[in-house]
Amino acid sequence: MRYPCVEISLDKIKHNTEKLVELCKKNKINVAGVTKVFCGEPKIAKTMVDGGVQILADSRIENLIKLREIEIPKMLLRLPMISQVDDVVRYSDISLNSELKTIKELSKKAVELNKKHKIILMVDLGDLREGIFDEEEIFLVVSEILKLDGIELIGIGTNLTCYGGVIPKYENLSRLVKIKMNIEKKFNIKLDIISGGNSSSLYLLENGEIPEEINQLRLGESIVLGRETAYGKNIEDTYDDCFKLIVEIIEVKEKPSVPIGEIGMDAFGNTPTFVDKGIVKRAICAIGKQDIDLGDIIPYDKDIEILGASSDHLILDITKCKNDYGIGDNIEFKLTYGGILKVMTSEYVEKNFRY
Ligand SMILES: *Cc1c(COP(=O)(O)O)cnc(C)c1O
Repeated sequence: MRYPCVEISLDKIKHNTEKLVELCKKNKINVAGVTKVFCGEPKIAKTMVDGGVQILADSRIENLIKLREIEIPKMLLRLPMISQVDDVVRYSDISLNSELKTIKELSKKAVELNKKHKIILMVDLGDLREGIFDEEEIFLVVSEILKLDGIELIGIGTNLTCYGGVIPKYENLSRLVKIKMNIEKKFNIKLDIISGGNSSSLYLLENGEIPEEINQLRLGESIVLGRETAYGKNIEDTYDDCFKLIVEIIEVKEKPSVPIGEIGMDAFGNTPTFVDKGIVKRAICAIGKQDIDLGDIIPYDKDIEILGASSDHLILDITKCKNDYGIGDNIEFKLTYGGILKVMTSEYVEKNFRY
């Protein structure tokens, strides 16, 4: 085994996916499985497909390119860059959009490649990340999209609880439904999809409060961590430890808890402060801020206290531990969403799969 490593339980991810797909199915909602937090790792994405997701979705086209062998529709979540329209049309079937200029470029490229590219138009319901805010602008953009070749407008969508922290409710999602109906009436077209958000919309399903016209959710965090993200509650009968970080100890020594000498700056230019706890037993582990943020790792051993880290060293207080940790031993951590993202992105963290 090489360390540090992240152990990925494909069984647990499959279980979580099945639970969420089932919950959504009861509400006649399709699930787009979001793969960005694990950098579009194909084995994990394939597991989501086995668990029943109808689409794979990612914010980066580079990740969708990794998934091109998996035969299922792919959706690009982040608004396309004009500089990437070639890859977007080639490697995604659907993209979320809010800018006519970009959609026109997608149209040109789709015609050139003799493809039909599908579009979900994003509406900003108040979270103030992407999407068209003004209702009149929505109709204007739709009228222009309908003139374009190579582009098929398949629906509208929204994203919430990302920038502004706005929580999806029956009221704001009903506005999305109403806009969809107005578009259909005004242009005499049919839109198949209303994409009603991410893992923060799930609590509405549990409460039976989601407008029944919403028929797609894009789920990432709820699948990998088993929690909804409006209130951060765990979802019943799901796992929160599909990803586990394992590190190796390279030094164990008893040392003072306050450094000796004048305190200047630490490795990141901050002036550190220390609580004097006398002599403590510390373990240094071979991982650092290049691979993790301190707030994103949660030791399984509750007696461990995280003291700090530099780029490549993690320092733990193991004074209170019942376990007698030594050099070469391992320490295991649960990960937050940000933690999974960072260890999956780090090329220094080995990825191990468990079935
Ligand atoms: C990341 C993302 C999602 C998935 O969000 P989760 O909270 O992980 O479920 C859905 N939609 C868009 C547009 C995203 O960028």
